[in-house]
Amino acid sequence: MANQYDVAIAGSGIVGMSTALWAQRRGLQVAICDANAAGSGATFGPACTMATYACVPINSPSVVTSLPSLLFSKNSPLTVNYWYAIKNWRWMLSFLMNCRSSRVEAIGTQLGALLREADAGLDPLIEEIGAEDLIVEEDCLYVWATKDGFKDARQGIELRRRQGVAMQEIGPDEIRSLEPNLKMPMYRGLRFQGTRYILHPQKLVERMQNHFMRNGGTVIEKAVSSVEAAAERVTVHFHDEDTLTSGHFVVATGAHGKSIKGAGVESLPLGVERGYHVTFANHRNKLSRPVGWAEAGFYATPMELGLRFAGTVELDALSAPSNPNRITYLRRRAKEMFGQLDGPSEEWLGFRPTMPDALPVIGPSQKSERIIHAFGHQHIGLTLGGLTGRMVTDMVTGQAPNPDASGLSGKRFGFL
Ligand SMILES: Cc1cc2nc3c(=O)[nH]c(=O)nc-3n(C[C@H](O)[C@H](O)[C@H](O)COP(=O)(O)OP(=O)(O)OC[C@H]3O[C@@H](n4cnc5c(N)ncnc54)[C@H](O)[C@@H]3O)c2cc1C
Repeated sequence: MANQYDVAIAGSGIVGMSTALWAQRRGLQVAICDANAAGSGATFGPACTMATYACVPINSPSVVTSLPSLLFSKNSPLTVNYWYAIKNWRWMLSFLMNCRSSRVEAIGTQLGALLREADAGLDPLIEEIGAEDLIVEEDCLYVWATKDGFKDARQGIELRRRQGVAMQEIGPDEIRSLEPNLKMPMYRGLRFQGTRYILHPQKLVERMQNHFMRNGGTVIEKAVSSVEAAAERVTVHFHDEDTLTSGHFVVATGAHGKSIKGAGVESLPLGVERGYHVTFANHRNKLSRPVGWAEAGFYATPMELGLRFAGTVELDALSAPSNPNRITYLRRRAKEMFGQLDGPSEEWLGFRPTMPDALPVIGPSQKSERIIHAFGHQHIGLTLGGLTGRMVTDMVTGQAPNPDASGLSGKRFGFL
């Protein structure tokens, strides 16, 4: 029996759609399955930075030393549901173990290798679908309001330097000359040279999907319920008992991978960092580039829909309701940053898929070489989505991925 497709992909976020396009470019017959609209998951609401400088993992020694203020200050970008943390103690413990300096260096080195190749993974797709109008070339900026905050960031800045990130340290006057509308206190800034951002990520992914369909790709508007791998094929099951067969199956479901039985995600420590955004439709002109307020844990980005404040981290279950305090926090900090703004026009909660070592999972499942995992991109999935698609396609076609992916498969968590 011939397989219906060479590759079936679950999930039409930036990772799944990029994989679909790369596989199609190599002449493969591809189906992508998702009950929801393309780009409507985590990919809908990010801070829109193509953050090729973001090789510093969220795990860091300063997370441990600053834990009391991170947990209890009203100005903290982090909130934790303690019951959730206790229930998921193994993930939390593993996250903390990865905050050791030696681990941070190793993780930063692996992220650096991925990020140096990130543009080469996304740019051919941008060109192919004609989405250059959605990309803005403008140096992103980090701003620290306090001397202590900047001191805590020193180790991370040195790590970036070792990874070859092009950046320039600037003082308050230069920050103000670049962005005169900023009103919060300023101590130092970092200007990341040669960086870009995306005006509308969902539009980007929708265009990817339209192009994919025009070129003969199949879109199946259903969620995958389970998969079974055999020697020659993978059988993909949907909730309505329909099935399809394909040579390979790719799990690109972001934070939701455990919803697919038999794909080998159930036994992996896939966690979720919930993040929020508020968008002020009338204030796009307040900035000319994304500005990350380091201590406050979010970016303000002048995107197509307005001025978006996106970030913060909430450790809680996927199923927990949206937390209104997090929206209040973003609105209050937005006011500190710019003064009174009218709005917001939009509030959003999204789910970053996160492994406790802050590295994505890109590689074959422990269940079968025919099932390939592609999730766990935490804070930089928009940046790494294109490259992940290329790496997964290399695996499907038997080529060696660049950069080397041997340390990225889920098998690295064998001890858990
Ligand atoms: C507040 C915030 C700010 C961020 N800022 C940035 C940034 O500036 N730069 C950056 O690079 N990254 C950023 N990120 C991270 C980035 O958004 C994510 O890493 C990325 O979008 C993950 O993409 P994905 O394709 O893996 O997942 P998603 O976009 O979540 O897509 C997963 C898809 O899988 C589908 N699905 C789920 N279950 C099934 C199933 N059983 N069968 C089929 N389909 C299924 C879902 O419907 C969804 O469409 C940010 C994230 C947040 C929350």
